[in-house]
Amino acid sequence: MIELRTPAQIDEMRPAGVFVGEVLTALAEAADVGVNLLELDALAHRMIKDRGAESCYIDYHPSFGASPFGKVLCTSVNDAVLHGLPHDYKLADGDLLSVDFACAVDGWVADSALSLVVGTPRPEDLALIETTQVALAAGIDAARAGNKIGDIAAAIGGVAREANLKVNLQFGGHGVGRTMHGDPHVPNDGRPGRGYPLKPGLVIAIEPWFLHTTDEIYTDADGWTLRSADGSRGAHSEHTIAITDGDPIILTAR
Ligand code: MG
Repeated sequence: MIELRTPAQIDEMRPAGVFVGEVLTALAEAADVGVNLLELDALAHRMIKDRGAESCYIDYHPSFGASPFGKVLCTSVNDAVLHGLPHDYKLADGDLLSVDFACAVDGWVADSALSLVVGTPRPEDLALIETTQVALAAGIDAARAGNKIGDIAAAIGGVAREANLKVNLQFGGHGVGRTMHGDPHVPNDGRPGRGYPLKPGLVIAIEPWFLHTTDEIYTDADGWTLRSADGSRGAHSEHTIAITDGDPIILTAR
């Protein structure tokens, strides 16, 4: 079921968005060569506790997950492209890290993600990250009352195709509200003018994630982490946004 929020409710969602942005900024500052993924999870966990927020991930156990997630963020490194389960791994020079974080503040959820390179970057990885950012901006710009979900999808997919990058359509954006994942699904490619008509009050996460050379993924032995079939790297950019009568509001702006 698709739920629309009143302007007052969207205002109530702002603190969650601000906090999720603050956590991602702290994680991006902390991520460096030699830092363990478990330290990043612990940092986010401390911030959640200090804020009195509630993790969306730690007890998360959907049909595609092997067991409750057990951590408070996703850390996906290199060929791990989505849903990376934080584990005992120290970041190495040139690693491409994607961090996806969602939590609830005062009962409202916000969800956002970023990618970065620690140490010495490969130019193609910086270009991959930048392209997901450009696609996210294009998707947000299409998130306007009167447009349809397909307009967001086409805007994102068009940026990927222009850059000759690959899009996997199994996972994409989603409605956000009292819980992390609601309707509608927001695919990262599609046909303009198709799908659910966008209305003021719709709050969604838009989250392009692209790969260098394949759109095929498989699940790691940990039951969660999704890896690219050919070892190519992925990058991910995500914001939670609210559609209004005018410009969309980026709730998780940093
Ligand atoms: Mg997310």
